[in-house]
Amino acid sequence: EVKFDSFYTPVLLQAQNELLDYSGIGISVLEMSHRSADFSKIVNTTENLLRELLNIPENYKVLFLQGGGTGQFSAVPLNLIGLKEDRCADYVVTGAWSAKAAKEAEKYGKVNVVHAKLDKYTNIPDKSSWSLNPSASYVYYCCNETVHGVEFNFIPDTKEAVLVSDMSSNFLSRPVDVSKFGLIFAGAQKNIGCAGVTVVIVREDLLGKALKECPIVLDYQVQAGNNSLYNTPPCFSIYIMKLVLEWIKNNGGTEAMENLSQKKSSLIYDVISSSNGFYSCPVDVDCRSRMNIPFRVGKREGDEALEKLFLDKASKLGMISLKGHRSVGGIRASLYNAVTLEDTEVLAAYMKEFLKEHQ
Ligand code: PMP
Repeated sequence: EVKFDSFYTPVLLQAQNELLDYSGIGISVLEMSHRSADFSKIVNTTENLLRELLNIPENYKVLFLQGGGTGQFSAVPLNLIGLKEDRCADYVVTGAWSAKAAKEAEKYGKVNVVHAKLDKYTNIPDKSSWSLNPSASYVYYCCNETVHGVEFNFIPDTKEAVLVSDMSSNFLSRPVDVSKFGLIFAGAQKNIGCAGVTVVIVREDLLGKALKECPIVLDYQVQAGNNSLYNTPPCFSIYIMKLVLEWIKNNGGTEAMENLSQKKSSLIYDVISSSNGFYSCPVDVDCRSRMNIPFRVGKREGDEALEKLFLDKASKLGMISLKGHRSVGGIRASLYNAVTLEDTEVLAAYMKEFLKEHQ
């Protein structure tokens, strides 16, 4: 069995070290009042780190909210669908998560899916085929579809439209030109910390147009006006994010994360494409995700018994969580920021070995 070390092991060790006594103040972050000066410092530092790492322009607010990515599926339409009179929004649906977001938005207005409905999620419909509605309040897409492994490697040019993106599963894995977006959101639990906090980056001029039924905890203007402290925030999750952001900064920032993610994902895609069909990834080459690589094992769309063997053997070697999402089956290798190049090399070597034995 191989001993796997997360990139973020130093983060975990620091959290352990500071758990009982944060920064010499005699209490834990877990015990701190969210209104204390010490916690304010944590929130402000976290925000400043994020602003620095993503080069976030001044006219954007950074919010730390609860409710996860799913909470944002509701918050986005509740806050933005009323930007224009028609209460309509354009959605690009390239996988399970954008499909869920579109479904949720239908509760609050009209949803226009801008392309012909896909019967499987293995590609991004060509931008020239999108029919954007000029009276839509915003255009929404999911930057990386975690289940289906479909990632945008470009920012869609939507002209004057307000562009909204769910970056939950590829956040801080590369630089992003924030100024192209009206809003970006991302749950922390994949690339920048632990569950419990969701980052929202929103352009200031979009605030203040929430529908009257918008729950106050999801109201961006209210949260922005209170520095994300309208109510008790997920303090410990924000603190962990601060540690992760410090780690990313000290390790070369988003450019370094991008470089690493290219190397890691290429290792696995190379094994797949040179396996003569033994491994197969259904996603079009130009939109294959650097973060989540879904693949099948065995000729002809996958062989479930062989896939089970693949997973069992991997697990014995210490490689866990490789099972594909229950809705698609097969295998999924998730290569978030915390996964090292060395760990990925071990997986690639295992795949080659398994191929030799079972092809
Ligand atoms: N969007 C994406 C891209 C996701 O991967 C997920 C969760 N895996 C969600 C949204 C939903 O996030 P949550 O579970 O935090 O509600």
